[in-house]
Formats: sequence, structure tokens, C-alpha cells
Amino acid sequence: MTERAHPPWDDSYTGGTPAPWDIGRPQPAFARLADEGRLTGRLLDAGCGTGENALLAASRGADVTGIDLAPTAIARAREKASARGLAARFEVADALDLGRLGLTVDTVIDSGVFHVFGDGDRARYVASLAAVLRPGGACYLMCFSDRQPGTFGPRRVRADELRAAFSDGWTVESVTADTFDINPVNVTTQARAWLAVIRRG
Ligand code: SAH
Repeated sequence: MTERAHPPWDDSYTGGTPAPWDIGRPQPAFARLADEGRLTGRLLDAGCGTGENALLAASRGADVTGIDLAPTAIARAREKASARGLAARFEVADALDLGRLGLTVDTVIDSGVFHVFGDGDRARYVASLAAVLRPGGACYLMCFSDRQPGTFGPRRVRADELRAAFSDGWTVESVTADTFDINPVNVTTQARAWLAVIRRG
């Protein structure tokens, strides 16, 4: 485990109210990707939270591993998998050190994780993804967008920052405007996002 300045992530899952992102269903963007048949093969959900996107992929036949730093989130994801009769694996692990998992996957999904990292950890995260995703494999990454007004929530990311982060050893196939569904914050139930499709190699 590395030393980083970040909120104590497990606290996001132990309060009475679900965290804004913990919506109890897959993000519509990932539901769409699943419907397009893109969440396939051996799939890793990096920073899976309570596992809705991972479990969706598992329900469509992917061989799924979800990891998160927060033990409470992982426990909840395991409970959901068992309640739904799905065979996904969920482990407490650091997304900055995915090589440790000893895993090679065909597909990675990231819903709301890239944007939690500061500049230094961003490069580490991208290297960490490269350690588990096979050449030619696809990473589907959705992060907060610089088009999201106000200051609520995580740091905003510009499309060109995404392209720069994945400039070496990756092909950014597309970066498109999308939305996160969130639990109501004030009166807002959506936030502007970028959905990036990134191929390794
Ligand atoms: N993908 C989930 C959660 C998004 S919130 C969803 O869509 O619901 C960001 C998640 O990243 C949190 O669950 C947090 O615990 C996790 N996280 C933050 N830093 C991490 C790290 N270094 N390694 C693994 N998970 C991390």
C-alpha cells in the first residue's frame, strides 16, 4: 500500500447515506457498453466500489475481477454477487499496483477512478493498468469532465489530459462526452463526464 493524500475511501461506504456515485445500479454508459458487447473476456474493474458495473459485466458472461481499496465496498460487492448468483471475484487491492494481482485481462473498466488521482499518481495508475491489460486489450474509462460546472465532486479532467496520460504505449480511440448518474447532490442527479475508449498498444 502506498502513501497518498486521498480521502479515507472506506468512510465513503460506512455512513448511513450512500456516496454520490454509489447509485445501486450500473452507470448508463457502462450499460451501453455491455449492450454493445464490449465488456467481454477476462475483465478487471479498477476501483469497482460496490460492484454494479462489474456485476453487470459478469451477468453478460465476462470473467470478472473487481478491486477497490475500500474493504466495506468489496464486502458489499461480494454480498451482491452472492445474492445475484454471479461468479465475480472481488478483492481489496491498490489500483496503483495492479501488477501485484498476477492477472492478465482483455478488458479494463474504470468508472470514476482516474479522476481521483493527483498528477504524480496519474502516471503510476496508467503504468499499473498497462501491467494487467494485454496488448490489444481495451480500457473503458469514465471520469469527471472539465465541462462540469461548479466545484462539487472530484477534480475535472480535460479530454487532452486523457490523451496525454495515455500517449505512450496506448491508442486513445475516442473521448466522448457522457454523463455520470449520481445520487442527488442538492438537486443534481447527473454530472458531465468523458468516456474514453483506450486500446493498449
Ligand atoms: N467504480 C465505482 C466507484 C467509483 S468512486 C463506481 O462506479 O461506483 C472511486 C472508487 O475508487 C472508490 O470506491 C475508492 O475506494 C476507489 N479507490 C480510490 N483510490 C484507489 C486505489 N488507489 N486503488 C483502488 N481503489 C481506489
